[in-house]
Formats: sequence, structure tokens, C-alpha cells
Amino acid sequence: MYVDVAVCLPLSRTFVYKAEEQLESGSRVLVPFRKREIEGFVIGSRNEAPDIEIHPITRVIDSSPLLRPEIFELCRWISKYYVSPLGEVLKAALPPGISARHIGRGGQGGRPLVPLHSGVQGTRGRPPCPPRPVLTSDQSRALDAIRTVTGFQTILLHGVTGSGKTEVYMRAAEDFLAADKSTLILVPEIGLTPQLTEWFSDRFPGKTAILHSSLTKRQRIDEWLRIYAGEAPIVIGTRSAVFAPLENLGLIVVDEEHETSYKQEEIPRYHARDTAVMRAKLAQAAAVLGSATPSMESFHNAESDKYRHVALTTRVEDRALPNVEIINMREEYAAAGKQVIFSQRLLQGLAARLERREQAMILLNRRGYAAFLLCRRCGFTFQCSSCSVALTYHRTIDKLLCHYCGLARRPQARCPECDSEYIHYVGEGTERLEAELMKIYPDARIGRVDRDTMRHMRDFERVLGGFRNGDIDILVGTQMIAKGHDFPRVTLVGVIGADAPLAMPDFRAAERTFQLLTQVAGRSGRGREPGEVVIQSYFPDHYTFQLAVTQRFEDFYARESRYRKGMFYPPFTALAGIMVTDRDPARAAALAREVGEFLDSVRSKTVRILGPAPAPLERIKKVHRHQLLIKSASRATLHHMLEKLQAYVEEKKIGGTRVIIDVDPVSLL
Ligand SMILES: [Zn+2]
Ligand SMILES: [Zn+2]
Repeated sequence: MYVDVAVCLPLSRTFVYKAEEQLESGSRVLVPFRKREIEGFVIGSRNEAPDIEIHPITRVIDSSPLLRPEIFELCRWISKYYVSPLGEVLKAALPPGISARHIGRGGQGGRPLVPLHSGVQGTRGRPPCPPRPVLTSDQSRALDAIRTVTGFQTILLHGVTGSGKTEVYMRAAEDFLAADKSTLILVPEIGLTPQLTEWFSDRFPGKTAILHSSLTKRQRIDEWLRIYAGEAPIVIGTRSAVFAPLENLGLIVVDEEHETSYKQEEIPRYHARDTAVMRAKLAQAAAVLGSATPSMESFHNAESDKYRHVALTTRVEDRALPNVEIINMREEYAAAGKQVIFSQRLLQGLAARLERREQAMILLNRRGYAAFLLCRRCGFTFQCSSCSVALTYHRTIDKLLCHYCGLARRPQARCPECDSEYIHYVGEGTERLEAELMKIYPDARIGRVDRDTMRHMRDFERVLGGFRNGDIDILVGTQMIAKGHDFPRVTLVGVIGADAPLAMPDFRAAERTFQLLTQVAGRSGRGREPGEVVIQSYFPDHYTFQLAVTQRFEDFYARESRYRKGMFYPPFTALAGIMVTDRDPARAAALAREVGEFLDSVRSKTVRILGPAPAPLERIKKVHRHQLLIKSASRATLHHMLEKLQAYVEEKKIGGTRVIIDVDPVSLL
């Protein structure tokens, strides 16, 4: 017989090979391809030989497919929707290193994974799983909405921070389990939501599997096998867990659905949230998208009745939302006669917390000591030699680092351009913040959480555990501290440099800022004492800050919608980004022009094309990047154009890695 094979390469077309035996769709094979051997997936078969020379497959890797039919269908959808080669999508759906012989060995997985930290440091600082609390009326309503779903439906669970969404997820999972149905829970990053993972493991001992990128290859295979064998009907995992081989799927939860980490930024570029909704549809299951600050896309879907909107408007135990205050840093500058890091209001607040033995968190979304080094005489800045970004100064190691490629160099005392010694540190990072706080409050115990101090998951847990136990008074950190943690003694949250994300050349800048501010504000006042939030800004009148004070998402959505509609941006327009790359700047520009001309030749009148233009980050790791954006009122029209572009790129042998198609892009940098 003859089989159609999707090879694991950035190629959209399939190839025909001769097979000795009957092979099902989804079976993995090794095939000869352009003088080498490569893995591929059988996606169909035929009895008649096509009119060309056909090679036999080299070897069958898995004669019975490891991909369940539902996952295979899901992969086909991803390949089509995201204009991504099917072979690459199918490969991404399986854990690396797995093969059918693992299943042949009795279908047994390994032992259940022990939750991440309990083996490392015992139960110290670990929040206990809450007893099954009496549900608030909001929680009961949400649970009823999920319970009563028959067939496929998507629910946007829009709950203010601290409204107890996790308990709703656990109860719903319990119900589905009792009906012999499995549950899949997606989280943005496992390390950032350790509590959710632990609570589920505690509530459903032995029945929970965990899938994320920090597992070893072996652990990942073992967890996958436990799921495949039906031993773990509840799966918690990050992005790629959307492919978990669960059977009888009843419920998919996407927690913090607005998070950008759900989008995979390499081939295949799928969005795990939207893929999860499609998987629920294929399985006729309930999809629940949870967030305190839904994405514009999901809220738009709820508004247009594609999703059901279920709101949780009260915090558990009727705790009040924190009081948010915006500080105008221009006034602080005028009063102090110089640039200051901390406003008077924040300093007073911190002193009061130390006095009362309460806790505070300070968020600054930039690591390192100084954003860049500037020569005050000639304006020289130290730039990365491989990327078009300034190097960040890290004082502990006394090095200038590139946050994109990792390049490290020693700072110089004198300017390499004009030899002056007026080298100035500009823009503070978390390392500087920690140092300054130690100077101001020498007796305070200060902790810091960012990618520099958190090399391992256990570092993260150690600091957070210490904070939870009251061993730390002030916790300084990047957005890593903004996520779902529950610290009842935190009554003050300060946000420094809140303007920075608004300056990003990205149409989602305001949305991201609003989300971050709301999330971090939600960390305050989760215990008995009411919370306070101080946001420092140089543009306090910007609508994002004004609406962050009220924390009323609907108002923000209405305001932001006007801008998106006016500028033809999602969720009111279908958007795709095309990134053209080359190590040579002239070749990158020429190829971008060629792609632009091609798109122009195949576009319909209703489609807008922006660019080509150099990307905001024009160079990363010595690769030059040019960008085009395609906006279309009709998704089908956009799709049609992208497929033509894909065919053009393959026909011209330009290479799928030099012209990158990104459907529904989340980052335009
Ligand atoms: Zn200089
Ligand atoms: Zn670099």
C-alpha cells in the first residue's frame, strides 16, 4: 500500500511512500527524505501508486498510533488555523522520546509525581488545601453553570481577584469525576501557580497528573503514560498539556486565560487557550476560561454570546477590594528637586507596615540594577553587539547583560566614545530597588523574586514560603509576584515604573498594563485587614491608570474597544504577523519587500497590509527582522492569503524559518 506522510519539517505538503503493512493514520514512521532520514506521521493511505518514483519507508516507529483520534483531529485543526505544517504539529503533540514500546510494557506509567516542593523542603510554608468551604452564592452560581453544560459550551468565568475560582474548578472536577469524566486544567506557568497544583493533588490524591516543561524527559513520559492508561483522570499542565491523552474529557479549564504564555512563540505557533476551546468542542465537553481580567478576545466572545459570561463579583468572606491610589511622579520630582524611586506616599505606607508587622510587595517589571548605562557627555549607551537593545547592568555580578541573547561584558569606567568618566546609571531594576530599600529600612527583612534570584523552582518556593511564614517583611519582584499567590498578611502593594509597558510599540500595551495592575492589586488585602495599592506613574491621567483605580473591567473593555475598532485591531479584526528574517540586513529587507509585493498581488480590497518595516526589535541574536501585519475583517479571506503565502515560500524554497507566519500574534516586538 501507499501512505501519505507529513514529515516533521516546516513543509505544508505531504509525501507518498510505500509501506509493507497496513498503517493507521497517526502512525509514526521513519522515511528517506532528501538524502537523510526523517520522522513523519502517516495521515492517509491509498492502494494505487501515483505516477512518480516512490520510496519505501525506512522503518515503522509506532505501528499503532499514540495519538488518540481526537488529538489527531485537533492537530489537523491547528495546522490549518495557524497555517503550521501538520508534521510539526503532530510531533509537538507527543512528549519527546516516547514510543509505542513504552505502552507495550503493560501500559503502566511511573509513580505519581510528588508535588514540586514537598520533597525539597517539607511542608514548611506550604499553604494547606482549604477545607471544602461553604460556597459563596457567586461560587454556587458559577458551579451550577458548569454542571449544567450539556455537550460543548464555553464559559468565561470572570471573577475578581480573591473570589475563589480554584474552589469552583475543584468542585466541578469532582462532579465530572463522579460521572466518570476527566478534567484538564491549563495554567500559564506551573511554578507561578504552585498552590493550585498542590490543592488539586491534595483533593484528588493519586488521580492527578502534572505536565510541564521543568520535568525530565523520563518524568514527562511517565506522567503521559499514567494519563494514557487512565490512571490520572485529572491533568494539570502548561501549554502543551492541551494535547494530554485523556479519554472521556468532560471539562477543560484554562486558568488566567489572558496570559500571553499560552501562545507558543515557535513552530507550531498555536494559542493553547483557543486550542483548548477547540478540543472541548471536538470532545463535546465544557470549556471554562477563568480570569479576573479577561483578554479582549474572550470578553468580546462573551459579549457576542459565543461564550457564556459568568461573573464572580465578590471576594470570599466578603473581603473588600483594595483601595488603589495613583501617584503623579512628576509632582514627586518637582517636590524633591530630583528623580526619586519611591514616592512619599509609598515610603509612609512601607514604614507603617513595618511598624504594624504587616507585609508589603513592590512590583517593578525590570530585573537588574540599571536599565542601561549612559555617557552624560556624549550620549553613548552600551548596546548588545548581536541585538538591537541596550545592555542591562547587574551589580551583584558587576556585568552588563543582554536580556535577549545572554551576552555578558564588563562595564567600563570610562566612555569608549569620548573617554569621559560621566557614566550614569539610568532606569532602576529590581536589584537596585532591593539595595535602596535596605538603605532606607536597615532593619527590615527584604526578599527579591526575579529571574536572577530564581534559578530553580525551589528558590522560588523558598522565598515565597519565607514570605508566607512572615520571615520576610517586604517582597520586591518582577511580574512573577503578580500572579495568583495568596498572602493574607499583605496589606500594601506598590507598583513602580507602571508606565514602562505603555511605551511598548504594541497595540496590546494598555490591555497588558491594566491586567498587570489589576492582578498585582489583587495581592493586597486577602486577609482580614483591608488592602492598599500605590501605583507610581508619570502619566497618571492615562485611561489605563484611571480605570485601574476602579478595577472595573467592563469600563476598561468599553474604552479599549473604541481604540481597537478605530484602528482595526483584534478582537474586531483578524490579524496575522509575518516576520521575515535574515542574518544579512540587505537580504532581510529585500525578502521582506518580495513578501510584501506577493501579498499585495493576492490580497482582496478589504485587507489592509502594514509594512514591511523593521521590527521594533530589529536585530536579535545577529538575525535581522522585518515585519508585516495583515488585517482583515474576514478571517476566511486572511486565511486564504496566508495559505497562498505559505505555498509561495515553499515553492520558491525560501525556507519556512525565514518567513514566519503568526496567526493571532500576541507579541509584535
Ligand atoms: Zn561619552
Ligand atoms: Zn543580545
